[in-house]
Amino acid sequence: MFSEEKKQIIKYGILLDKYELVSLTCGNLAIRMPTGEILVTPSGIAYDEMEEDDIIVCDIDGNNIEGDKKPSSDTPAILYIFKHRPDINGVIHTHQPYATAISLIPGMTEFRVCYTGMANACAGNVPIAPPSPAGSVEMGIDVVNYAGNSRAVILGNHGVMTIGSTLKEALYAAVYLEETAKGYLAARACCPDGKINEMSDEYIQQMVDVFKYYGQGTPTIPTDLVKKVK
Ligand code: 13P
Repeated sequence: MFSEEKKQIIKYGILLDKYELVSLTCGNLAIRMPTGEILVTPSGIAYDEMEEDDIIVCDIDGNNIEGDKKPSSDTPAILYIFKHRPDINGVIHTHQPYATAISLIPGMTEFRVCYTGMANACAGNVPIAPPSPAGSVEMGIDVVNYAGNSRAVILGNHGVMTIGSTLKEALYAAVYLEETAKGYLAARACCPDGKINEMSDEYIQQMVDVFKYYGQGTPTIPTDLVKKVK
Protein backbone atom coordinates (compact mmCIF):
# COMPACT_ATOMS: atom_id res chain seq x y z
CA MET A 1 0.00 0.00 0.00
CA PHE A 2 1.31 3.47 -0.98
CA SER A 3 4.73 2.20 -2.07
CA GLU A 4 5.71 5.44 -3.90
CA GLU A 5 4.93 7.64 -0.90
CA LYS A 6 6.76 5.30 1.48
CA LYS A 7 9.81 5.47 -0.80
CA GLN A 8 9.54 9.28 -0.81
CA ILE A 9 9.44 9.41 2.99
CA ILE A 10 12.62 7.31 3.26
CA LYS A 11 14.37 9.32 0.54
CA TYR A 12 13.52 12.60 2.27
CA GLY A 13 14.60 11.17 5.65
CA ILE A 14 18.00 10.42 4.13
CA LEU A 15 18.06 13.98 2.77
CA LEU A 16 17.38 15.36 6.27
CA ASP A 17 20.50 13.51 7.35
CA LYS A 18 22.48 14.76 4.33
CA TYR A 19 21.57 18.38 5.12
CA GLU A 20 22.45 17.82 8.81
CA LEU A 21 18.96 18.51 10.08
CA VAL A 22 18.81 15.29 12.12
CA SER A 23 21.32 13.00 13.86
CA LEU A 24 20.93 9.22 14.12
CA THR A 25 17.22 8.44 14.62
CA CYS A 26 15.83 11.82 15.63
CA GLY A 27 13.10 13.57 13.69
CA ASN A 28 10.21 12.10 11.74
CA LEU A 29 8.17 12.54 8.56
CA ALA A 30 4.51 12.07 7.71
CA ILE A 31 2.25 12.28 4.66
CA ARG A 32 -1.53 12.49 4.44
CA MET A 33 -2.90 10.66 1.40
CA PRO A 34 -5.72 12.22 -0.66
CA THR A 35 -7.87 9.32 0.60
CA GLY A 36 -7.16 10.35 4.22
CA GLU A 37 -4.68 7.69 5.40
CA ILE A 38 -1.60 8.92 7.29
CA LEU A 39 1.87 7.50 6.59
CA VAL A 40 4.35 8.02 9.41
CA THR A 41 7.93 6.94 10.10
CA PRO A 42 8.61 4.31 12.77
CA SER A 43 10.08 5.35 16.10
CA GLY A 44 13.83 5.12 16.59
CA ILE A 45 14.89 3.63 13.24
CA ALA A 46 17.68 5.36 11.28
CA TYR A 47 16.62 6.62 7.84
CA ASP A 48 19.37 4.75 6.01
CA GLU A 49 18.17 1.50 7.60
CA MET A 50 14.46 2.17 7.11
CA GLU A 51 12.52 -0.07 4.74
CA GLU A 52 9.20 0.52 3.02
CA ASP A 53 7.43 -1.98 5.29
CA ASP A 54 8.64 -0.05 8.36
CA ILE A 55 6.42 2.93 7.46
CA ILE A 56 3.17 2.81 9.39
CA VAL A 57 -0.19 3.55 7.75
CA CYS A 58 -2.88 4.69 10.17
CA ASP A 59 -6.11 6.65 10.16
CA ILE A 60 -6.47 10.21 11.44
CA ASP A 61 -7.17 8.88 14.96
CA GLY A 62 -4.00 6.78 14.96
CA ASN A 63 -5.71 3.40 14.41
CA ASN A 64 -3.26 1.09 12.63
CA ILE A 65 -4.10 0.17 9.04
CA GLU A 66 -0.76 -1.34 7.98
CA GLY A 67 2.68 -1.94 9.46
CA ASP A 68 3.84 -3.72 12.60
CA LYS A 69 6.43 -1.19 13.81
CA LYS A 70 5.73 1.26 16.61
CA PRO A 71 4.94 4.65 15.02
CA SER A 72 6.92 7.83 15.76
CA SER A 73 6.57 9.03 19.34
CA ASP A 74 5.44 12.37 17.87
CA THR A 75 2.42 10.77 16.13
CA PRO A 76 -0.10 12.49 18.50
CA ALA A 77 1.34 15.89 17.49
CA ILE A 78 1.43 14.96 13.79
CA LEU A 79 -2.20 13.77 13.84
CA TYR A 80 -3.25 16.93 15.66
CA ILE A 81 -1.70 19.03 12.89
CA PHE A 82 -3.39 17.03 10.12
CA LYS A 83 -6.74 17.21 11.96
CA HIS A 84 -6.61 20.96 12.41
CA ARG A 85 -4.94 21.96 9.14
CA PRO A 86 -6.82 20.35 6.23
CA ASP A 87 -4.51 22.23 3.81
CA ILE A 88 -1.43 20.39 5.16
CA ASN A 89 -0.43 16.99 3.72
CA GLY A 90 3.25 16.82 4.70
CA VAL A 91 4.81 17.22 8.16
CA ILE A 92 8.51 17.02 9.04
CA HIS A 93 10.06 17.23 12.50
CA THR A 94 13.80 17.83 12.82
CA HIS A 95 16.32 18.71 15.49
CA GLN A 96 18.16 21.06 13.11
CA PRO A 97 20.81 22.67 15.28
CA TYR A 98 21.08 26.22 13.95
CA ALA A 99 17.37 27.04 13.71
CA THR A 100 16.86 25.47 17.14
CA ALA A 101 19.72 27.57 18.55
CA ILE A 102 17.74 30.69 17.68
CA SER A 103 15.16 29.63 20.28
CA LEU A 104 17.91 29.90 22.93
CA ILE A 105 18.35 33.63 22.39
CA PRO A 106 16.48 35.40 25.20
CA GLY A 107 13.49 37.42 24.04
CA MET A 108 13.24 35.87 20.55
CA THR A 109 9.63 35.01 19.73
CA GLU A 110 9.99 35.06 15.96
CA PHE A 111 12.81 34.44 13.47
CA ARG A 112 12.43 37.20 10.93
CA VAL A 113 13.27 36.39 7.31
CA CYS A 114 16.73 37.68 6.43
CA TYR A 115 17.54 35.55 3.33
CA THR A 116 15.41 35.37 0.21
CA GLY A 117 15.49 31.55 0.27
CA MET A 118 13.81 31.50 3.68
CA ALA A 119 11.02 33.82 2.45
CA ASN A 120 10.53 31.50 -0.54
CA ALA A 121 10.46 28.23 1.35
CA CYS A 122 8.96 29.21 4.72
CA ALA A 123 6.43 31.67 3.24
CA GLY A 124 7.45 34.39 5.73
CA ASN A 125 8.77 34.88 9.24
CA VAL A 126 9.00 31.79 11.45
CA PRO A 127 7.41 31.86 14.93
CA ILE A 128 9.21 30.42 17.95
CA ALA A 129 6.94 28.41 20.27
CA PRO A 130 7.75 27.91 23.96
CA PRO A 131 9.22 24.53 24.99
CA SER A 132 6.90 21.51 24.95
CA PRO A 133 7.82 17.92 25.80
CA ALA A 134 8.97 15.65 22.93
CA GLY A 135 6.27 13.05 22.30
CA SER A 136 3.48 15.33 23.51
CA VAL A 137 0.40 16.47 21.61
CA GLU A 138 1.34 20.01 22.75
CA MET A 139 4.02 20.13 20.04
CA GLY A 140 1.24 19.82 17.46
CA ILE A 141 -1.05 22.25 19.29
CA ASP A 142 1.77 24.81 19.27
CA VAL A 143 2.38 24.32 15.54
CA VAL A 144 -1.31 24.91 14.80
CA ASN A 145 -1.51 27.91 17.15
CA TYR A 146 1.75 29.58 16.12
CA ALA A 147 2.22 28.78 12.43
CA GLY A 148 -0.15 31.31 10.83
CA ASN A 149 0.92 31.39 7.18
CA SER A 150 4.40 30.07 7.96
CA ARG A 151 5.56 26.64 6.82
CA ALA A 152 7.74 26.27 9.91
CA VAL A 153 7.59 26.67 13.67
CA ILE A 154 10.70 26.55 15.86
CA LEU A 155 9.96 24.56 19.03
CA GLY A 156 11.83 26.15 21.93
CA ASN A 157 14.91 24.20 23.12
CA HIS A 158 13.82 21.24 21.02
CA GLY A 159 13.69 21.42 17.22
CA VAL A 160 11.57 22.46 14.27
CA MET A 161 8.30 21.34 12.71
CA THR A 162 7.74 22.16 9.05
CA ILE A 163 4.47 21.76 7.21
CA GLY A 164 3.39 21.91 3.60
CA SER A 165 0.65 21.08 1.17
CA THR A 166 3.16 18.40 0.09
CA LEU A 167 6.07 16.70 1.86
CA LYS A 168 8.38 18.46 -0.61
CA GLU A 169 7.21 21.87 0.61
CA ALA A 170 7.92 20.81 4.19
CA LEU A 171 11.41 19.60 3.19
CA TYR A 172 12.25 22.87 1.44
CA ALA A 173 11.10 24.85 4.49
CA ALA A 174 13.37 22.82 6.79
CA VAL A 175 16.44 23.06 4.53
CA TYR A 176 16.20 26.80 3.76
CA LEU A 177 15.29 27.68 7.34
CA GLU A 178 18.51 26.01 8.46
CA GLU A 179 20.61 27.71 5.78
CA THR A 180 19.23 31.08 6.88
CA ALA A 181 19.69 30.33 10.57
CA LYS A 182 23.39 29.58 9.95
CA GLY A 183 23.87 32.91 8.19
CA TYR A 184 21.87 34.79 10.80
CA LEU A 185 23.83 33.39 13.75
CA ALA A 186 27.17 33.99 12.00
CA ALA A 187 26.19 37.60 11.24
CA ARG A 188 24.88 38.22 14.77
CA ALA A 189 28.13 36.94 16.24
CA CYS A 190 29.95 39.61 14.19
CA CYS A 191 27.64 42.44 15.26
CA PRO A 192 28.46 43.73 18.74
CA ASP A 193 24.88 45.00 19.24
CA GLY A 194 23.31 41.83 17.76
CA LYS A 195 21.64 43.87 15.02
CA ILE A 196 21.95 42.66 11.45
CA ASN A 197 20.98 44.15 8.07
CA GLU A 198 17.30 43.27 7.86
CA MET A 199 14.98 42.74 4.90
CA SER A 200 11.97 45.07 4.70
CA ASP A 201 8.45 43.67 5.03
CA GLU A 202 7.91 44.60 1.37
CA TYR A 203 10.99 42.69 0.21
CA ILE A 204 10.02 39.65 2.28
CA GLN A 205 6.50 39.64 0.81
CA GLN A 206 7.92 40.03 -2.70
CA MET A 207 10.08 36.94 -2.18
CA VAL A 208 7.11 34.98 -0.79
CA ASP A 209 5.10 35.91 -3.92
CA VAL A 210 7.93 35.13 -6.33
CA PHE A 211 8.13 31.56 -5.07
CA LYS A 212 4.66 30.86 -6.52
CA TYR A 213 6.40 31.05 -9.93
CA TYR A 214 9.39 28.89 -9.00
CA GLY A 215 10.40 25.66 -10.71
CA GLN A 216 8.60 23.56 -13.30
CA GLY A 217 4.87 23.67 -13.95
CA THR A 218 4.44 27.36 -13.06
CA PRO A 219 4.38 30.43 -15.33
CA THR A 220 7.50 32.61 -15.76
CA ILE A 221 7.92 35.25 -13.03
CA PRO A 222 6.03 38.43 -14.08
CA THR A 223 8.61 41.27 -14.47
CA ASP A 224 6.44 43.63 -12.42
CA LEU A 225 6.72 41.30 -9.46
CA VAL A 226 10.51 41.53 -9.27
CA LYS A 227 10.91 45.31 -9.42
CA LYS A 228 13.53 46.35 -6.88
CA VAL A 229 11.96 47.24 -3.52
CA LYS A 230 13.56 48.72 -0.41
P1 13P B 1 10.76 9.17 16.88
O1 13P B 1 11.95 8.38 16.41
O2 13P B 1 9.89 8.41 17.85
O3 13P B 1 9.98 9.72 15.70
O4 13P B 1 11.28 10.40 17.73
C1 13P B 1 12.20 11.27 17.21
C2 13P B 1 12.14 12.63 17.81
O5 13P B 1 12.76 13.50 17.26
C3 13P B 1 11.35 12.88 19.02
O6 13P B 1 11.10 14.27 19.16
